Amino acid sequence: MKKSVLVVGAGIGGLATALRLAKRGYKVEIIEKNSQAGGRLNQLKKDGFTFDTGPSFFSMSYEFKEFAKDCNIEMPFKYMALDPLYTVNFSRSPKTYRLYKDIHKLAEQFKDVEPDFEIKMRKYLKNGKALFNDTVDIVIKENYNSVLAYLITLMKVNPVHLPILFRNFWQQVCRYFSSDDAREIISLVAFFLGRTPFDTPAVYTLLSYTEFEHDGYYNVEGGMYKIVEGIVEELRKENVTITYNTEIVDFVANGRKLDCLVDQNNRQWRSDIVVVNSDAASFRGRIFKRPKFSMEKLDKMEWTMGPLTIYLGLKCKLPQVEHHNYYLGDNFKEYANKVFQSSGTLQKPYYYVNVLSRNNPGCAPEGCESLFFVCPVPDLRFKKNWDDKDEIVNSILDDFSKRINQDILPEIVSKTIYTPVDWQNQYNLHRGSGLGLSHKMMQIGAFRPTNFDEVFKNVFYVGASTVPGTGLPITMISSKLVVERIEKLKY
Ligand SMILES: Cc1cc2nc3c(=O)[nH]c(=O)nc-3n(C[C@H](O)[C@H](O)[C@H](O)COP(=O)(O)OP(=O)(O)OC[C@H]3O[C@@H](n4cnc5c(N)ncnc54)[C@H](O)[C@@H]3O)c2cc1C
Repeated sequence: MKKSVLVVGAGIGGLATALRLAKRGYKVEIIEKNSQAGGRLNQLKKDGFTFDTGPSFFSMSYEFKEFAKDCNIEMPFKYMALDPLYTVNFSRSPKTYRLYKDIHKLAEQFKDVEPDFEIKMRKYLKNGKALFNDTVDIVIKENYNSVLAYLITLMKVNPVHLPILFRNFWQQVCRYFSSDDAREIISLVAFFLGRTPFDTPAVYTLLSYTEFEHDGYYNVEGGMYKIVEGIVEELRKENVTITYNTEIVDFVANGRKLDCLVDQNNRQWRSDIVVVNSDAASFRGRIFKRPKFSMEKLDKMEWTMGPLTIYLGLKCKLPQVEHHNYYLGDNFKEYANKVFQSSGTLQKPYYYVNVLSRNNPGCAPEGCESLFFVCPVPDLRFKKNWDDKDEIVNSILDDFSKRINQDILPEIVSKTIYTPVDWQNQYNLHRGSGLGLSHKMMQIGAFRPTNFDEVFKNVFYVGASTVPGTGLPITMISSKLVVERIEKLKY
C-alpha cells in the first residue's frame, strides 16, 4: 500500500509533484494559502480582461513533454513558438530590435553597430551549446546527497569550461561582442534569472543557446494560466483534493519524524510524507524555526529582484507592439549595479511589457488590449516603502507612451499594481523576491537548500528555491527530482 502525501502549496512545483505521485499510486492531497491554484503562475480576471500575473513565456518545452509522458497524459495545454522571441528598445534611439531566432535575419539588425555580428553570434552560441551539452544533463538534472557528491560530479564536466567559472555573464558576452547594443541585448537573459549580467555566473550563457537555437520560447494558447487549469483537471481525475485558503503556520514533531502541520485555524494536517512547495529556504526558517534559516540569515543570502507588476486594460489596440518587449535606458551598467539596492524612488526604470491579447484575443474585449508590465526593483530589504508606487508607475506609462508613439493614459479602463509587498504577502516570498534565491555559485547544486529536510525524514521540498532553480521548466525538473527521492524512501 503506497503512502499518503500532503503537498503544501499549489504552485507549479506542488501541482506537478502531486500529479507525478498520484500517478504512482500515492494518496495525495494539496493545501494552498490562496483561493486559487498556480502560485506565481497565476491569473487575474478584472473589468472584462484576463491577465497572466507572473510568467508570460517558457523555454525548454521538452521538460513539459517529459512531465506529460511521465504522467501518461496528453499535454494538458497547447503552446506556440514565439518568433521574434522579443523586442528591445533603448531610450538612446528610436530603433526597435526584433530578436529573431534566424541568426542571419537577426544579424541584419546589427549591421550598423556590430561588425560581423553573425559570425560572432554563431561562435558565442557554439560555446553556449557546448556548455549546455556538458552540464545540463550531468549536473542540473541530478539529486545530490552531499556537497562531496556534487563536487565529484562537477569534476566530470569537460575541463575546457573551467575558466568560465571565474567570469560573470557580462564578461563572457564582452569576449564576443564589442558594441553596447549587442552586449546589452545578449546579456538581457540574465535578468530572466532575476539578477543582472554583472552578478550572474557566466555558465548561464548557455541560456542564450536555449533561447536562440535549442528550443526557443513559447506562449500558451489562451494564456499561461491554461498550464495550471490543465494540471488541476488531471489532478481532479486522480481524486487529488486541493483545500484552498489554508496556510501552514506551525508543526508538531516526534523526534526525526514530522507528526503533523498546523494551519492558521489550528487544524492539524497529517500524512506519511510532506512535500513543501512554499519557498524552501524561508519555510525552514519561518515554520520549522531552523537557526540556519533565521530572518537574519535569510537576509544575508542572495535573492532575486522584487517585481513591480502592472496589469492594464486598454480600450484601444497597440498593433505596433509585439508580444514581449523590453524598454531599456542608456545607462545599463550603472542602472544594473545600483538600482537593485537603492531605497528611494526609481529614476527612469527599465521595464518589460507583455501584450497578452496579441496572441490570445479572448483575454480582452473586442478592440481592447490586455497588457502586463514587469519592472525589476529592489526587494524589501532595500526599498521598504512603496507609498511612491503610483509615481513610479506613472513614469513607466509615460515613458512607454513616448516609445510607442501613442498616449495610452486616456485609454486605460482597468489598472492593478502589485509591489514586492503584495508578492511577499500573497505567496510568502522572502522580502518580495520574485524568483526566489539567486543562482550564484554558492547557491546552486548541493549548496542550494536541499529537496530533502535536514531533520525530518518524511519532509521534502519542491520549487524555485530548492534544486535545481527557478523558472517554469526548471521547476518541472525539481518535481521530477523530488519524486525520485520519495520513491527511494525505505519505510
Ligand atoms: C513577475 C514574474 C514573472 C515571471 N516570469 C517567468 C517567465 O516568463 N517564465 C518562467 O519560466 N518563469 C517566470 N517566473 C518564475 C516562475 O513564476 C517561478 O519560477 C515558478 O512559478 C515557481 O513555482 P513554485 O512552484 O516554485 O512556487 P510558487 O509559484 O511560489 O508556489 C508556491 C505556492 O505555495 C503557497 N504557499 C506558500 N506558503 C504556504 C504556506 N505556509 N501554506 C500553504 N501554502 C503556501 C503559495 O501561495 C503558492 O501558491 C516569473 C516570476 C515572477 C514573479
